[in-house]
Amino acid sequence: MAIIKKTPEQIECMAAAGEVLVRTLDLLASKIRPGVSTLELDQAAERFIRSQGCTPAFKGYRGFPGSICASPNSMVVHGIPGDYRLERGDILSVDVGVVKDGWVADAARTFPVGPVSPVAERLLTVTEESLYLAVDQCVPGKHLGDIGHAIQRHVEKEHGFSVVRTLVGHGVGRQMHEDPQVPNYGKAGSGALLEAGMVLAVEPMVTVGHYDVRMGDDNWSIFSDDGTLAAHFEFTIAITELGPRVLTPWHQAKGGTRVAA
Ligand code: MG
Repeated sequence: MAIIKKTPEQIECMAAAGEVLVRTLDLLASKIRPGVSTLELDQAAERFIRSQGCTPAFKGYRGFPGSICASPNSMVVHGIPGDYRLERGDILSVDVGVVKDGWVADAARTFPVGPVSPVAERLLTVTEESLYLAVDQCVPGKHLGDIGHAIQRHVEKEHGFSVVRTLVGHGVGRQMHEDPQVPNYGKAGSGALLEAGMVLAVEPMVTVGHYDVRMGDDNWSIFSDDGTLAAHFEFTIAITELGPRVLTPWHQAKGGTRVAA
């Protein structure tokens, strides 16, 4: 396993990609409502990303047809945008990748479509909180396992939901997927030592029921196997001497405060 560390200048390049990504998510947040199709969201995202001189990282990645992944309800991740029209009460994971000047940023949020059920509301809150707890672990001297441990403890021990085991976060840089893998579960103090210059895409994927998942007929979409709701939140995070730096700070953007809805 070779983890490619980034210089401060390279981290700035990734932050620039992240800024476009945050604006893309913000644009999508303003469009998400009952009746909108996931293809319409995809087209809006692609138009905006290209208008900024960037490219959508997912488009064509291993043949993926969309510019975003749009995964409603029991779909965990990797949903192909299409005819599906959002309904009031849905939750929708939107995952976006942006390439700017050869550097990739990767982030996701799960949005409520209008008012959602109490369990959906709690799932979104807990999963988002687990990402913030993970950010706190992204400091030099901690270990990879500390990230997964923080997520798993919050999600499973404290709230009784499940962390998906077979899908993990990843290093990110010039490539969308670099070493190391970043599981959302694990043992505190285990795994690779975190060092300044590492950039990680940390992305808790959480289900209400069991953590088993299955692939859909399109060979892309991943669903909770038991059909329960799933949520997914992701940041690209740089580990720096000064502590964690979120390069895709959608939580600070206009419309980034989901809780206010
Ligand atoms: Mg990712």
